[in-house]
Amino acid sequence: MSDTPVSAADAVATSSRATRILEASKLSKTYRRGPENVRAVADVSLSVDAGEIVALVGPSGSGKTTLLSVLAGWEHADAGEISWTGHPMADPGTLGWADMAIVPQTLGLVEELSVRENVELPLRLGESIDGGEARVEALLDELGLTRLAERLPAEISLGEQQRTALARALVLSPSVLMADEPTGHQDVEWTRGVLRVIEDAAADGIACLIATHHLALVRYAHRVLRIEDGRLTAVAPEDVVAAGDEL
Ligand code: ADP
Ligand code: MG
Repeated sequence: MSDTPVSAADAVATSSRATRILEASKLSKTYRRGPENVRAVADVSLSVDAGEIVALVGPSGSGKTTLLSVLAGWEHADAGEISWTGHPMADPGTLGWADMAIVPQTLGLVEELSVRENVELPLRLGESIDGGEARVEALLDELGLTRLAERLPAEISLGEQQRTALARALVLSPSVLMADEPTGHQDVEWTRGVLRVIEDAAADGIACLIATHHLALVRYAHRVLRIEDGRLTAVAPEDVVAAGDEL
């Protein structure tokens, strides 16, 4: 974080809770394609605290995925700063699964590994924890994947693949969960199932930043940030719920 005072407009996108995990200040990202410039993220400041569910809403093409990619260190910001537990972070891409876990819109499952092996992946990458295997089984069960555990991603539905990516993200109980439209491929029943798992994660202290089009998720959120043409504003969850179809 820089020492410059935050403006009122920036302050609304942050909360006053105690344990701040992830914080971003004045992030910008412009894609250049030939003569065309797309300012996908424009001067965005936000924070996510332990145990908090922050919903990121906005129309398709508004910058949700780009913002999450910049926060994850997968894309380089043109300007701005990211802080991790209060300390400036040059490259969030160096954080491990136990710190920051992501459910990308494109899921990113390893095609040659079974569902169970995909979920176990963060454990296998050396960040093993006590009770890791039990947690794998519990997440497979909660997300309806136990009977599919030996199948390859290509042998299950897109919704099941998405739930596999969520289980993988949560297996190490990360400090931050970032999920990009994690109910996007779910039916009504599994939307509830996914929300339950995210709510449990937050109850365990995980900071959750969730890009979504789903009103149901907004209802669960402690705060709602709306992004439009790359610009972020905080909105009251009840206003988003009232606006309904404008998600
Ligand atoms: P959302 O996730 O809200 O649908 P995105 O972050 O994917 O929005 O996209 C924001 C804007 O940036 C869109 O105008 C999109 O076309 C553009 N964009 C995204 N990725 C790229 C890229 N790799 N190159 C050029 N433009 C991109
Ligand atoms: Mg997107």
